[in-house]
Amino acid sequence: MVRQLVFVVCLATALAGAAEPPNVILITLDTVRADRMGFLGSKRGLTPNLDTLARQSVVFNRAYSQVPLTAPSHATILTGTYPQFHQMSDFQVPLAQDLPYAPEILRAHGYRTAAFVGSIVLDPKQRFAPGFDRGFDTYDAGFRTRHPGEDRYHTWERRGDEVVAHALVWLNQRPKGPFFVWVHLYDAHYPYEPPEPYKSKYASAPYDGEIAYADSAVGKFLSQLRAFGLYDNAVIAVMADHGEALGEHGEDTHGIFLYDETIHVPLVIKLPGGSSAGKRIDGRVGLVDVLPTILQAVGVAVPQEVQGESLLGMMTPRRATAENGGTVDPETFLDRPSYAETDYPHRAYHWSSLRALRTGKYLYIKAPRQELYDQSVDPNAEHDLSASSKAVTGTLAAQLDAFRQKTSNGKEAPKSAVDPEAQEKLAALGYVATDSNASRPGAKDLDVDPKDKIEISNLTNLANFLVEDERYREAVPLLQQLIVQEPDAPVPYTKLGTSYVAMREFDKAMPVLRKLVELNPDSAGSHFQLGAALFAAGDFAAAVPELEIMVEKSPRWIQPHLMLATAYSKIDRAREAVTECEKVLEVAPNHYGALLLEGRILVLSKHPEAALSSLEKAAALRPERPEPHMLLADAYVQLGRKTDAARERDGAKRLEQVPGNLKQSPAQR
Ligand SMILES: [Zn+2]
Repeated sequence: MVRQLVFVVCLATALAGAAEPPNVILITLDTVRADRMGFLGSKRGLTPNLDTLARQSVVFNRAYSQVPLTAPSHATILTGTYPQFHQMSDFQVPLAQDLPYAPEILRAHGYRTAAFVGSIVLDPKQRFAPGFDRGFDTYDAGFRTRHPGEDRYHTWERRGDEVVAHALVWLNQRPKGPFFVWVHLYDAHYPYEPPEPYKSKYASAPYDGEIAYADSAVGKFLSQLRAFGLYDNAVIAVMADHGEALGEHGEDTHGIFLYDETIHVPLVIKLPGGSSAGKRIDGRVGLVDVLPTILQAVGVAVPQEVQGESLLGMMTPRRATAENGGTVDPETFLDRPSYAETDYPHRAYHWSSLRALRTGKYLYIKAPRQELYDQSVDPNAEHDLSASSKAVTGTLAAQLDAFRQKTSNGKEAPKSAVDPEAQEKLAALGYVATDSNASRPGAKDLDVDPKDKIEISNLTNLANFLVEDERYREAVPLLQQLIVQEPDAPVPYTKLGTSYVAMREFDKAMPVLRKLVELNPDSAGSHFQLGAALFAAGDFAAAVPELEIMVEKSPRWIQPHLMLATAYSKIDRAREAVTECEKVLEVAPNHYGALLLEGRILVLSKHPEAALSSLEKAAALRPERPEPHMLLADAYVQLGRKTDAARERDGAKRLEQVPGNLKQSPAQR
């Protein structure tokens, strides 16, 4: 107790500006179940490093996520607001600029801010988490689309060791002053493919292997922090964004349901100087409380819009109430309700969204068929009491509605900008993205209870992974089964059609994709899928009208423009082909592919003079590539400039002889 009082005094001194405020380190472990943590009672021995940290920290035995999806949950962690307030309910919904945001708040108080994330789903530049880079001096993401034959871990994911290595480089060269560093480790997310030695050691439980691997990465990070002398005085908060169902309640992964397997998460917070080390808190807390806790621990005022509550009062209960500034009395924490929701069933499948309230001994879930569990005797939520305890169910339903209403934003929800390109990327990660702006669902869709359909979601995820791994033969029967079960859902048609295209079985692809368009005549994405298939099959005349619909809908997406330009040129519509290239160059003036294509079309259509500038620019952009020079040679031949033509031809030949130069690298495709 005396030590805690000393800490409070020290903290107060820091608040007064006498010393530099503590550094803040936020570590989010994606998809990590609470029950795999040694410090929460797991006997599996997966987390020696986190267990060491936990002994020097305050451990929250009952911490809950507010939403079982990566970007929405991180939005809650970093804004201290509920999903119904920040409204980042899905990938690609922009994080509103006026929300309180950890890096921006801390930067305004002199902090250097840096983020190191492990997945494309948190990459603002890839449109998955737009707005997440606000307030960060450095946002280390840099993911890209995976092309056939490429490794997942060098395209849209990074292993924990690599994320940590990037963070350590930054820390080693960090600018002066206090810092806020966020490290996000994506390893435990499906697919469970830990690197060696974890792969062999946990061959029968690869998810556990991923946890053990993530723990080792955290261990490397923390030991370097100690070596830098940055560990002791930092605030270090470690948590999972959500858990993983692993088959419980019929769910394979996460996102659909709100039971403990995906909502109960690990949470430990280490205070400067190890204050309150080893303390365990049984009161129910939420990830929404993390930001205000961090801010209060470093003496930064908590913005009014923040909806979570600082847990510092529980962690250091000796602090005088007068000093607490909004800190909840420890006693009231023992039964603080915890709210969670997911819109993913609706957005991905047009089923009902789910909402949950944990309060008292109960878990209440609002669904078309609502559920009630007594967690004190039924921790696995196996015995639904809603029919036998109607009064309790009704009371909790009313409490949930009132809480949601009180904590909602009231603003119109921002629209997501899901385009087919981004949908493809999401599907590869195991998510189904639908266009939230589309108005497909009628009232009847909203009545569908995800409990009745969970197998559809599992099958869809599995099929998506198989398609992404180019295991089309295995994916096809699953997709056919999905179409039988859900004949109106667009995604299985898209996946089946594109699988057939990838196998070059165009006669099978076309009827599937025509059915997709028939089901979704207003969806540009459906037309694009059909257009891309016709393009691949070489039926350029038929592809053109389908691709035209797509470019009109998504004028800034480059790929359809280039496809359309090529298709036009193949059917002798050179002028329109050049126009499409120009549209790409308006968006991306240095797009090598567009410049080259424009030059080629102009040469082929006997406009050599016009081709020169595009081709010269392409040659300057990629001096190692022979193609622009070959086309320049052709253009000069047409112009009768023999010397220039010979020079370009020689240049192209020289470049062709450079080993490996004839095969284009993936980045050039
Ligand atoms: Zn996640």
